[in-house]
Amino acid sequence: MALQNLPLDLILTTENQPRKTFYAESLDELAASIKERGVLEPIVVRPVSGTGSQGGAPRDGKFEIVMGERRYRASKIAGLTHIPAVVREMSDEDAAADALLENFQREDLNAVEKARAIQGLLQFMSWEKVSKTLGVSETTLRRSLELLELPSNIQAELISRPGQGEGAFNEGHARALIALNDDPATQARLAGKVKQEKMNIPDLEKVIGAIKQFPQKKEAFLRVPINVTEQMLKSLGVREERKKPYKAQTAEQHMKAIEKSAATLSELLDSRVVEFLDSQQMNQLLSTTATLTREMEDFNKTVRDAVQNKDYSFREVYIHCPLCGRVELVGSVRCSVCWTILRRCYDCGNYDRAFEKCGVSGAAVYINEAESPKDYSKSYKCPDYKPKFDAQAVKLKMAA
Ligand code: SF4
Repeated sequence: MALQNLPLDLILTTENQPRKTFYAESLDELAASIKERGVLEPIVVRPVSGTGSQGGAPRDGKFEIVMGERRYRASKIAGLTHIPAVVREMSDEDAAADALLENFQREDLNAVEKARAIQGLLQFMSWEKVSKTLGVSETTLRRSLELLELPSNIQAELISRPGQGEGAFNEGHARALIALNDDPATQARLAGKVKQEKMNIPDLEKVIGAIKQFPQKKEAFLRVPINVTEQMLKSLGVREERKKPYKAQTAEQHMKAIEKSAATLSELLDSRVVEFLDSQQMNQLLSTTATLTREMEDFNKTVRDAVQNKDYSFREVYIHCPLCGRVELVGSVRCSVCWTILRRCYDCGNYDRAFEKCGVSGAAVYINEAESPKDYSKSYKCPDYKPKFDAQAVKLKMAA
């Protein structure tokens, strides 16, 4: 080992340098310090000869950097011609291992460079030795190496501009994207979304989880903001739950819950709130009410179909006037309060709902007209109208 003042011209960089990115700003700062105070810590080099492992120009009489490439580069910027260097005779393996180790221990190495350093060390050492040398578990080593399985464009996000602060793309985001290694296009779009929406890691994980669980909705998850994603997940989760067998013994609890929630919702639907919403909140409200309306319509239709198709003893005798809500007997010609036509093909035992036609005459009666007849509709004065359920019989049954 000898300390020498070597000409910079005789010094070569090494292929085993794990740091692939040297930030110009940081090098300039170091160069300014070197100009003022010189190189305080000598670099470490080793004599080389031949043409090197990759071929190329002869290297006889030259030295390869083992540690200190940043200082070497900054010295060049500072205009130095010589640099203090410790010259050591070392094998290729030892030099590579020392270079990787020295760099690994520097805090400013980014996550991908660290992973590459570990990968490099594993060429010369066992997993156990690398783990002991670096003072980290083998699990940590494996987790670090996983970053190298990401597509190069995602790795580049960490190398070129590692994110700082909330919402910036950083190692945690990259690590979350590993779950989508089979879909690089989606990874790239999500990386863009993270930067655009300043998305934090748990939110990104939520979107990735949503894409994994409901791949048919991927496009929507990639486009909507996180709050809408959460609403969609809730709604999709409920639908998934509904695919499971319904437990009849919970019907009573279910009804109680519906009534309680309906009362709460009714209180919440205070339209004055719109005066206090900003555009994002209004967007959210529109999305929520649209979903709610759609679900209510589906639910109402199911309830009405059930009433029409099954004898519930009491309910089928009556019909609610669609205009004023007055309850009348099925088959009543008009509502006794607002005079809306209530005798409908829809409630007639002769109506064929599957083919939307009258079962007696065979004439088409489309569902809209069957449900909401007008003055000119046939059902209004139809002599063949036959209430689906025998109101009189039920009334007698109830009276008994
Ligand atoms: S009300 Fe008259 S037209 Fe309508 S389905 Fe019944 S029988 Fe046919």
